[in-house]
Amino acid sequence: MSAVTFKPEIDKDALRAKYAEERDKRLRNDASEQYIRLESEFEDLAADPYLPVQERAPVTDHVTFAFVGGGFAGLCVGARLKQAGFDSVRLIDKGGDFGGTWYWNRYPGAQCDTASMIYMPLLEETGHMPSEKYAHAPEIREHCARIGTQFGLYEHALFHTQVTGLEWDQDAQVWVVETNRGDRFTAKYVGMGTGPLHVAKLPGLPGIETFAGKSFHTSRWDYAYTGGTPEGAPMDKLVDKRVAIIGTGATAVQCVPKVARTAQELLVFQRTPSSVDARNNEPIDADWFADVAVEGWQKAWQENFTSHFGMGFPTEDLVNDGWTDISKRLRAALKEVPPAEWTPEKMLALFEDADNAKMEEIRRRAETLVEDEATAQDLQAWYRQLCKRPCFHDEYLQAFNRPSTKLIHTDGQGVERITEKGVVAGGVEYEVDCIIYASGFEVWTDFESRTGFDPVGRDGQKLSEHWGTEMRTLHGLQMHGFPNAFLVQATQGAAFIANYPHNLVDHADTIAAIVTHMEGKGLSTTEPSAEAEQKWLDFLLTGRGNALSNTECTPGYYNNEGKGLRERDKYNLGHPGGALAFFHHIAAWRSSGAFEGLEFE
Ligand code: NDP
Repeated sequence: MSAVTFKPEIDKDALRAKYAEERDKRLRNDASEQYIRLESEFEDLAADPYLPVQERAPVTDHVTFAFVGGGFAGLCVGARLKQAGFDSVRLIDKGGDFGGTWYWNRYPGAQCDTASMIYMPLLEETGHMPSEKYAHAPEIREHCARIGTQFGLYEHALFHTQVTGLEWDQDAQVWVVETNRGDRFTAKYVGMGTGPLHVAKLPGLPGIETFAGKSFHTSRWDYAYTGGTPEGAPMDKLVDKRVAIIGTGATAVQCVPKVARTAQELLVFQRTPSSVDARNNEPIDADWFADVAVEGWQKAWQENFTSHFGMGFPTEDLVNDGWTDISKRLRAALKEVPPAEWTPEKMLALFEDADNAKMEEIRRRAETLVEDEATAQDLQAWYRQLCKRPCFHDEYLQAFNRPSTKLIHTDGQGVERITEKGVVAGGVEYEVDCIIYASGFEVWTDFESRTGFDPVGRDGQKLSEHWGTEMRTLHGLQMHGFPNAFLVQATQGAAFIANYPHNLVDHADTIAAIVTHMEGKGLSTTEPSAEAEQKWLDFLLTGRGNALSNTECTPGYYNNEGKGLRERDKYNLGHPGGALAFFHHIAAWRSSGAFEGLEFE
């Protein structure tokens, strides 16, 4: 690594050159193709280590609403439908219980990165007070079960079940749902909330199949091997183990400090350092919470947080954390300039200054907290903060002060290969007993490939055909030609929202409103007209486009590993006014009762 260091007076040209130099080291021709799918390549490693699969007879009944996914999306939609008086709701999930991402990700130290007050859905409805500003995974998983129990969603749920087919039966006007457990049942409505990051991936390293020791992906943590528990009991079986963790993204940042505590030796293989700012977690005080938790509090908190990432100048910051700090710095910079001078160039320059200052602070943080100078340097991130997922943690950097924990900095080149005995990087073979892949999840792959089915709508048209290279929806929620079907995700709606569950609750409100309208009027089907879908797409295209497509950034899943977005990714758009503008639009749309753009029969 070149020895350029930047002290408070930032030389912008030198910094830009340094960022470009670091990015270029990491560019690879194979981009996203460098990864392999855990499930396809290593079926045994993809199996559920948490709950046994229960034998059951295939299901062949009819339900009012079938929802693919039992994570936050399905739970929110299920809860809202139950609240609206619809009992026949079935959630289907490949995990053995509700939770989605929180079912699978039980790695030690897992916790939410967005404040619990806004991240954990339906807190007001369930009366749950989060125990910490950033709750840990067991509490979040428990909360998922709480929602499932309180709203009676366990009754019809199917777990350890993967949907393999969804097809609209025009004559019967129902969806036919098929699964890998031999189920074939029908539903008047279907929803899909399969999550953006649920297909675990591994680096496609030569020799990966030859390793003779233990290995697993972080989303399939093997506590039988490591000892300890997701609740925090120490991993006592690692005391005589040499452990490698490959990857230094948001997952590794959370689990490295826990593994470091007990492993005889921990080697952390780093290709690109994460930016790791302060977390400042703290317990939530019951008296404080009682004062805050007045009717409507959670929506107000969510809207306040989301407003920090929109167009305005919010005067209040209820969450007050590293995320809102990013936005407050940009706004403070903007306020220094009279609105008449807000040219795009000026704004970009201001954003760059604010970002440079923030990243300098984060780099200084590594220097301050990490005792070994060379390791501290190697842990510094040389890119703009939003090029990669910003991380926040109060123990990650300090973990490298333990004599047993070593950073294997590969200077952008990554691990080269895996051998029978261990991990090779920089031409050196490191012998280990266990390899933990903190290598993330597929993003930007095709919807039908990630979900494992391609919904077939009216006239036998597949969703992949309807979209072709242009995703098209009304509000990111409904598609022309797919009657009574709902997607629950953020693209073409509140896209790029920092607090994803806010969007899920909002979509659940919309779905419940549409179903209530239909059932109240005895209607059979609804779908957006082709014109309404086109009009919405045209409107989305008036915006700034996909902000995450920046190829000046270091490679990562935000920019398709440095390749930029493909033609079809250009339609990964959001409301031009930002997420809050979308929520205001959709709230007015659903409460008007007119449901403009939808056709009903
Ligand atoms: P990421 O995709 O962010 O990280 C994968 C890591 O593996 C990267 O550091 C990557 O390096 C590294 N890697 C890949 N191949 C190699 C190789 N050959 N050699 C060395 N390193 C390699 O996955 P995560 O699971 O960390 O996070 C995924 C997303 O999940 C996050 O961005 C976040 O959205 C979400 N998440 C949320 C959390 C929360 O809210 N609490 C917690 C954890 C995750 P490189 O950067 O160079 O590509």
